[in-house]
Amino acid sequence: MGDMNERPEEWASRGIDITRPSIARAYDVVLRGKDNFKVDRAFVSEIAKVIPEIYDVASHNRRILGRGVRFLAEQGIRQFLDLGSGLPTVQNTHQVAQSVAPDSHVVYVDNDPMVLVHGRALLDENDRTSVVTADLRDARAVLEDPDVNRLIDFDRPVALMMVGILHHLHDDENPQGIVETYLDAVPSGSHLFVTHFCASSQEARDAEKQYLAMLGTGRFRTPEEITAYFDGLDLLEPGVVPLPLWRPDGPVPLEAELSIGQKLMYGGIARKP
Ligand code: SAM
Repeated sequence: MGDMNERPEEWASRGIDITRPSIARAYDVVLRGKDNFKVDRAFVSEIAKVIPEIYDVASHNRRILGRGVRFLAEQGIRQFLDLGSGLPTVQNTHQVAQSVAPDSHVVYVDNDPMVLVHGRALLDENDRTSVVTADLRDARAVLEDPDVNRLIDFDRPVALMMVGILHHLHDDENPQGIVETYLDAVPSGSHLFVTHFCASSQEARDAEKQYLAMLGTGRFRTPEEITAYFDGLDLLEPGVVPLPLWRPDGPVPLEAELSIGQKLMYGGIARKP
């Protein structure tokens, strides 16, 4: 970390603002990546004062992403719309899905310009995967995007992935309605995959204040609010649970014994009937 050019004017000409933390780059910090700036690291060090386990939280989220994508591919899903996909890291959606089924199609959607630059480099040779710069809150525009439609056939089941993103939408942006617009566009047999910050401790509520003050977004919702995103769908076992408890691939603590970090995010997968 720390080997990026920190001259704001040079980045501004590429549409990248390094005077304020960005969601994608702050997440890159907690994943111990290199695509971040001082301002992003300063934000994360403030969060780490409230939640020292924040680095583990990011790794729990990446691990459930891998388990979830593998599970979906094993259910026969061959199309993945990864909304708020983040900067490329390890075990990206297309790598996991295509390791199970090489014919899987994956479209990454993110509104951070750095994601496009790095995503293109990673995907240069993969004609079943694409990265689109778009604001997922404008669901209509995403659903009509030519690059999305080149790879995703909306007459066949789609995995709608909203992993670590819905908490970056404010209540008045109607995240529930946005999810419903995407769900309306996909056929029966499609799946919704959500992970989300959860108001599961006083520390989580304190972290929410820091997120909102410094990053501008970050709503820690209750398990009931997170479960409501799956209304009308068949929620698959084990339901909406703290991330380490979702179909673990090794031993895990009992729910009552989870640490603050282990229960900071909840997630689940449901099938559209
Ligand atoms: N889904 C990945 C994961 O869970 O590992 C990355 C999660 S990262 C915390 C959230 C990502 O959503 C960031 O890359 C950010 O740029 C992107 N994002 C935030 N708001 C967005 C919006 N309105 N439209 C598209 N992407 C957005």
